[in-house]
Amino acid sequence: MRRPFISANWKMYKTIKQTAEFFKEFLPLVKDVKDVDIVIAPPALSIPKAVELTKGSNVEISAQNLYFEKEGAFTGEISADMILEAGCPYTIVGHSERRQYFNESDEFLNKKTKAALAAGLKVIFCIGETLSEREGGKIEEVLGRQLTEGLKDISADKLVIAYEPVWAIGTGVTASPEQAQDAHAFVRGKLKALYGVKADDLRILYGGSVKPNNVKELMSKPDVDGALVGGASLKADSFSQIVKFK
Ligand code: PEP
Repeated sequence: MRRPFISANWKMYKTIKQTAEFFKEFLPLVKDVKDVDIVIAPPALSIPKAVELTKGSNVEISAQNLYFEKEGAFTGEISADMILEAGCPYTIVGHSERRQYFNESDEFLNKKTKAALAAGLKVIFCIGETLSEREGGKIEEVLGRQLTEGLKDISADKLVIAYEPVWAIGTGVTASPEQAQDAHAFVRGKLKALYGVKADDLRILYGGSVKPNNVKELMSKPDVDGALVGGASLKADSFSQIVKFK
C-alpha cells in the first residue's frame, strides 16, 4: 500500500514574511492528518524559515531546484549540501518550467538527480508531455525518454515521480482522472523496466491544476498516489482541503 504524498510547489511566490503567515494558518488545519506525507517547496530564500516553523510537525520542506556541482563559481546556484544543511530533506528536479524556460535537458536533470541523491536528499522527479506532443501521439515516447534518460544509472530509493502534463499546469485544465491513470500506469510500467518490483512501491504524483474539487477523484485512481500542486497550494485553506482529500 503506497502512502499518499501531497506536495506544494510555490514557484516564485511568497516572501519570507508571507511564508511565516502561511504556516501560522496552515499547520493547525492539517495537524491531525496522520496518513499523508505533506511536503511544501517554497522559494529557496524561505526554506530556513519554513524548516524552523515546521519542526516537529507533520509537514516537510522541499527545495524547488539545485545545481549538481558540490560548490564553486556557479553564480546564483545552490547545492544539495546547502539544501540539506538547511534542514530540508527533499528537492524537486525537472519541473516543466525548468525544462521549458531554463532549457534543462534530460542529461542535465540526470546529473542533478544523481547529485541530490548522493548527498542524501529525496527527489521529486517531474516528467510530462506538452500539448503538441500529446496531440502528435507522442506521450509514451516523451515520458519514456524523460524516465530512461533522466533516471539513467539512478536507484529507485528516495525517488518520488510527478507526472505533470505541461498543458495542465497553471491552465485550469486538469487531465481527466482516466487520462491521469493511463499515463501513470504507463509510467509505472516504465519504472518496472528500470527498477523491477521496486516500482510497485514508488509514488507517482499527478500535477496540473489540482484543486480541492478534483483531488478526490484523481486520488481514487489506482496508480495516482498523490499530487504536486501549484496555484491551489498558495492559500492555506485550499491546500489543507487538498491534503485532507479523503
Ligand atoms: C506545478 O507547479 O507543478 C503545478 C502543477 O501547478 P498548478 O497546480 O498551478 O497547475
